[in-house]
Amino acid sequence: MTTTILDHWVGGAPWPGASDRTSPVYNPALGRVQKEVRLASAGDVDAVVGVAHEALTQWRGASISKRQGVMFAFRELLNARKQELAEILTAEHGKVLSDALGEIARGMEVVEFACGVGHLTKGAYSENVSTDVDVYTLRQPLGVVGIISPFNFPAMVPLWFFSIALAAGNAVVLKPSEKDPSAANWMAALLREAGLPDGVFNVVHGDKQAVDALLEHPGIAAISFVGSTPIAKYVYETATGHGKRVQALGGAKNHMLVLPDADLDLAADAAVNAGFGSAGERCMAVSVVLAVDAVADQLVAKVAERMATLRTGDGTRGCDMGPLITGPHRDKVASYIDVAAADGATVVVDGRGVTVDGDPNGFWLGPTLIDRVPTSSSVYSDEIFGPVLSIVRVDGYEHGVEMINASPYGNGTAIFTNDGGAARRFQREVTVGMIGINVPIPVPVAYHSFGGWKASLFGDAKAYGPHGFDFYTAEKAITSRWLDPSHGGLNLGFPQHT
Ligand code: NAD
Repeated sequence: MTTTILDHWVGGAPWPGASDRTSPVYNPALGRVQKEVRLASAGDVDAVVGVAHEALTQWRGASISKRQGVMFAFRELLNARKQELAEILTAEHGKVLSDALGEIARGMEVVEFACGVGHLTKGAYSENVSTDVDVYTLRQPLGVVGIISPFNFPAMVPLWFFSIALAAGNAVVLKPSEKDPSAANWMAALLREAGLPDGVFNVVHGDKQAVDALLEHPGIAAISFVGSTPIAKYVYETATGHGKRVQALGGAKNHMLVLPDADLDLAADAAVNAGFGSAGERCMAVSVVLAVDAVADQLVAKVAERMATLRTGDGTRGCDMGPLITGPHRDKVASYIDVAAADGATVVVDGRGVTVDGDPNGFWLGPTLIDRVPTSSSVYSDEIFGPVLSIVRVDGYEHGVEMINASPYGNGTAIFTNDGGAARRFQREVTVGMIGINVPIPVPVAYHSFGGWKASLFGDAKAYGPHGFDFYTAEKAITSRWLDPSHGGLNLGFPQHT
């Protein structure tokens, strides 16, 4: 049997490149390799950047209405064919189909935001700042920008970035995760169908070699990265060292604080949804519930009760939770259950014994609940990135906030309470970029911006929304005077307003 090989997408068509290295792409629900993906060399990346530069001149000169038209057409095509894309996501990532459709919907929001690029591009104008002198600003595209994305949102994260980058007049080279790369090619073909000129959007597949080539390439003006914290830091340092504008979003360990006055049923629903959705492989997953002592036993019981109703299995079969991305990742996540027991925590639900509706070779691990996790344990401090929910008991609001603020991460957090004063204090006091008040996964809508604090984001610009548009454009300020004869004469002093 011949293995399918997924090519890069360059200049509006699949392109094999020169490198003969490839990497396997699994169907995690079957535990089987379904195709190979090419891994680009530095030479391949250089060729792709060259193609993008050739296409850039025409695209950056295209009118705003032309660029908006392409984005509108892309949005319509994406909406009409989202089921097809969702099936690709489920086949390579493993997330259940309904969750894959949710991912696409959240990505499509950003395409809709990008359709309003005409509004975003408007500059400021100050008339007569000095006699007969006007000052105005305009924003222009940066050039060819690189996007490097993680495995856990193979459609949404690229959509966060490329929609705005393209609408703003840039050309793009996307390097998606090699674990689930097909969504990127699918979206590239759809952009072409929407009328995007060839070469403006390119996909280069690869691993560290391709990433390093992008970070160092003089033809790349900016890098948007999403992935784990150590790589985000490396990307930020390397690419800024090569003079690029960089936003690098990293990992997370999101805490949900439940105060005694909260509605415990709603809080338990939220903890289960946000802890186990997408098998916990979300950067905004709740991985630690901080339960105030007075209600902790009750809350743990309610969470465990709900977990017993979850169906783990193949994402195409209407299950609640799918497999993990790879066998080694599943094994690593599962190993934390033994660590928890050894560190003195209580394993309330052990996902290793789960009954699965799917192929026995899939990369399964059922929902796992661990109570009384000591903060000295790696179960508490590591980003596990799987269906393992920790409960840490705290004695009250202050203790909870102290723990959230002591975390090296600052992506998302949530408070569950019916006390408006406590919620208001929480939003002021926590050192976290995205905060939910009775909302467990506070991913901002597309016209706000997404990003954490501390080790969850390196750089100054968050993703999408106003930050996204600013990131992909450079501002010029123009001081203009239309001359008349009264302005003659020499004066070497510093310009002053008259
Ligand atoms: P990852 O860091 O392993 O990979 C991300 C990207 O970097 C991939 O394209 C990969 O090919 C590349 N890469 C991997 N190792 C590299 C290396 N040594 N040098 C250069 N490039 C390298 O992350 P992942 O496992 O794909 O994704 C999961 C991580 O992403 C989690 O930590 C999660 O929290 C994080 N994440 C963060 C956000 C956010 O918005 N903050 C969103 C989604 C995911």
